[in-house]
This record gives sequence, structure tokens and C-alpha cells, in this order.
Amino acid sequence: MGLNLIVLVKQVPDTQNITGDAMKEDGTVNRAALPAIFNPEDLYALEGALQLKDKFPGTRVNVITMGPPAAQAVLKECLYRGADFTALVSDRGFAGADTLATSYALKCAIEKTGKYDLILSGRQAIDGDTAQVGPQTAEKLGCNQITCVSRIETVDSSAGEIIARRSIEGGWERVKAKLPVLATFTGEGEAPRPASAKKLMTYKNASPQAPAGIVDTGTAMALWDIPAIKADPVQCGLSGSPTKVKTITSVVLTAGEIKYVDPGEPGITELVHELIADHTLG
Ligand SMILES: Cc1cc2nc3c(=O)[nH]c(=O)nc-3n(C[C@H](O)[C@H](O)[C@H](O)COP(=O)(O)OP(=O)(O)OC[C@H]3O[C@@H](n4cnc5c(N)ncnc54)[C@H](O)[C@@H]3O)c2cc1C
Repeated sequence: MGLNLIVLVKQVPDTQNITGDAMKEDGTVNRAALPAIFNPEDLYALEGALQLKDKFPGTRVNVITMGPPAAQAVLKECLYRGADFTALVSDRGFAGADTLATSYALKCAIEKTGKYDLILSGRQAIDGDTAQVGPQTAEKLGCNQITCVSRIETVDSSAGEIIARRSIEGGWERVKAKLPVLATFTGEGEAPRPASAKKLMTYKNASPQAPAGIVDTGTAMALWDIPAIKADPVQCGLSGSPTKVKTITSVVLTAGEIKYVDPGEPGITELVHELIADHTLG
């Protein structure tokens, strides 16, 4: 029997390849200097969903992102790899959202897609880095959650159960949970598949379509604003965000703070002794 899957993906600045002008003088991220990429762990969540689609005929993979219009690029990537439906959740009213307001908007968008068996997200986004959005969304939906998943081992839709492998310190454990479940993925699973050339040709001109459709209308990419997901505007964006950023400090290492260590045995031994002497170790 086919499953209804939802994948949460985020477009992020590529913080893994930081250059000197990555931060502005006021300590905020200079987004123009960093290329926008698909959040790496979200690709593993998408792959997890596509593998279930391969295994269970009739499965639908629906992808949701909340972000500015440019975030449609990651949705296109999902269509190229095999997603059935995507939705760009975008509205000026979402600006300034912290993780609470983000997970509220995602919860409303997920509810709009109708019945779901499994929600798959990345564990952590490489820009905000909080790892809060997945668990907060599950909490708001009132569904079970399994974090740090590397692989979904089985889904038994007749018993309404899932078994997933999750990473723990020094190993892994198998967890069984009742559906619906939200699973957050690490980057330890099977490598994400590449885009299909055929799908790329099919969807290369896909763009967010408003007024929003519902999943079954055949739209490949919907555009959902605050009214479309029936969200309370007060709980969205800045007004729905209790997090207050007090100060932002730009940490720039200067040459005086860098010490080169000989990578051989004597250099490492000397470094360890120094770290013990200044009580960093031991
Ligand atoms: C006061 C405040 C104001 C902010 N204002 C802005 C702003 O104006 N613009 C802005 O871009 N950011 C803003 N942020 C950052 C924003 O809150 C986070 O980027 C966002 O909530 C996601 O948190 P995270 O990056 O820590 O994601 P994590 O919790 O680390 O992400 C985990 C997983 O959740 C899913 N996920 C996360 N975010 C999304 C999303 N948007 N859509 C779909 N899936 C998602 C992904 O699968 C991801 O791998 C603000 C933060 C604060 C505290």
C-alpha cells in the first residue's frame, strides 16, 4: 500500500565554504557572498523518502520548504530527483521567523497536505544550526518523533509501525514507533541519488503556482502564503518569534592566535603537553 510522505527541506547559505567576506561588519551573514545550496542532511531525508517510494508502489513524496522565492531552486531539485509534489511556503509575514514560528508555519503547511504517514526532515540546518525545527514541528502536530535517523528499516502500514535506525554516541539503536512519525535524518544514510535527466527536462520550467492548489490538483509546485495554510498571522514571522538576539559577535582569528604544529609525533606530543599545562585537557 502506498504511503503519504512529507519531506521538509531548506535552502541555506553554503557555510561549509566560508570566505573572508562571509560576515558583514555588523556580524550578520553576508548572504550575497555565499552560494545558496540544498541543506545537506535534507538531501538524505529526501533520499529516505524516495527509497520508500521505490519500495511501496503508490507512495507520494510531497516536499515543503518555507523561504523566499529563491528557495524554489531546492524544490526543483526535489522534482528532478523524484518528488511528486512541492510547495513553497512564502509570504512577507514569515520574515524574521525563529524556530518556533518556522515550525508553526510548517505544521500548518503539513496539515494542508492532508493525511500523512511519515514526515522526513534533516536533523540540522547548516546555517541556523539549532536542530529544533524537526522536533518542534512533531510536537505541534502531536505525532511521534525519531531523531538522528540514518536509515528507515521497515514501514508496516497495516500495523501502523515504523522501525528506524538512529545514531547514538558510539553506535546505533533500532527504534520502533507508531505512525505517523516525524524522523530527522543525519548524513549517514545511503548517498542521495542524482537528478534524473528525464525529470529535469519535465520540470525545468516548473515555478510556484498561485493560487495554491491542494496535493491532488496535479500542480508540481504550489505557492502557499499565510491564508493558504490557514495560519494565524500573529504566530508567524517576527510577531510569533519569542527569541531575542542580544548581540552578535563576529569571531575573526588573527595571525597572532594561530600556532602551527608539526604533524609528526614530537609536534603532537608537545601540543598535548601544552594543553595539559594550561588545563585545556585533563
Ligand atoms: C529572532 C530571529 C529572527 C530570524 N529571522 C530570520 C529571517 O528573517 N530570515 C531567515 O531566513 N531566518 C531567520 N532566522 C533564522 C531562522 O529562525 C532559522 O533559520 C529557522 O527557524 C530554522 O532553524 P534552523 O536553521 O536552526 O533549522 P534546524 O532546526 O537546524 O533545521 C532542522 C531541519 O528542519 C527543516 N527545516 C528548517 N527550516 C526549514 C524551513 N524554513 N523550511 C522547511 N524545512 C525547514 C529542515 O529539514 C532542516 O534540516 C531568525 C532567527 C531568529 C532567532
